[in-house]
Amino acid sequence: MTNPRPLPQRRRTLRTAADLVQAGLVEAPRLEALQAVAERYAVAITPALTDLMDATDPADPIARQFLPDERELVTSPEELADPIGDEVWSPVKGIVHRYPDRVLLTPILHCPVYCRFCFRREKVGGEEAVLAEADLTAALDYIRAHDKVWEVILTGGDPLMLPAAKLKSLIGAIEDIPHVQVIRIHSRVPVGDPERVGPTLLDALTTSKALWLAVHCNHPKELSPAAEAALSRLSGAGIPLLGQSVLLKGVNDDPETLAELMKALVRNRVKPYYLHHPDLAPGTGHFRLSIQEGQALVAGLRGRISGLCQPTYVLDIPGGHGKSPLAKGYVEGVTVTDWQGRPHTYPPQ
Ligand SMILES: *Cc1c(COP(=O)(O)O)cnc(C)c1O
Repeated sequence: MTNPRPLPQRRRTLRTAADLVQAGLVEAPRLEALQAVAERYAVAITPALTDLMDATDPADPIARQFLPDERELVTSPEELADPIGDEVWSPVKGIVHRYPDRVLLTPILHCPVYCRFCFRREKVGGEEAVLAEADLTAALDYIRAHDKVWEVILTGGDPLMLPAAKLKSLIGAIEDIPHVQVIRIHSRVPVGDPERVGPTLLDALTTSKALWLAVHCNHPKELSPAAEAALSRLSGAGIPLLGQSVLLKGVNDDPETLAELMKALVRNRVKPYYLHHPDLAPGTGHFRLSIQEGQALVAGLRGRISGLCQPTYVLDIPGGHGKSPLAKGYVEGVTVTDWQGRPHTYPPQ
């Protein structure tokens, strides 16, 4: 190797606007404005993702997803602090119980990286982000007391950010609840911090119950050799993998990119599960497209790529009404029907 570049800034997770300037990812004149963004919404970009970024390209899909942007300080009237209505369905801290047969459990609100379009951006990345032991006990007691709960979905934040020993004991405690048959984890770790998927983490994920992992990934470029190797370690450990993506303006809202993304997931043994319409999270207007545009893109995937590669395009209806498919035929005008048959106007009036 000739002329090895000094890498110290790029070898650690970047968390402040100053870090981003020092790493050459943003220009110095933007420092102050981006400091204001970072104060409002957590920033973290791992070396795995900085390596994939071409910061000289304003349209770079990785930069767009993870680099803070001045536009995040603009909140439009239809945007909501709790965009999918988690709070209405939260009986105890750390639990969201919206559907009878499954609950969300959020043991930690830290992530390896903070996506700029995150629907829980008002909650994640704070200082008290780990569910206190007493709250976790109460959350597990809640699940034990509700025998209709068939599936526990660990989400956050990113559950794979828990110390491995803590994750292992949590999974063990869930495994011991007789009526819980399935454990699902939603994570950005395989893409955001693939090195974390090592023997210790795999050991923590070992359980006699069915454990499914939903991997968040929005652009084929995110599937670097390191991310692919992490996915291979997970599938090799017998963990079925699902893909969860968000349809994002300027990132994946064109037919070629979407098709490549879905194919890249399937090639890595990840079954595309949901393609989410972007939520009405504060300061994320620059990522949103219309449902009609989304429908056209999704319709274009049918026939173009294998049925294995087809995700379900969904909207999480604001107000806590749940997810509804958006493919053509489900939507009349701008009224969306939820799982209990109730109509909702979108965006909410
Ligand atoms: C998304 C979500 C689920 C999971 O829904 P699936 O359709 O089973 O993937 C469960 N509970 C809540 C509160 C959710 O937001």
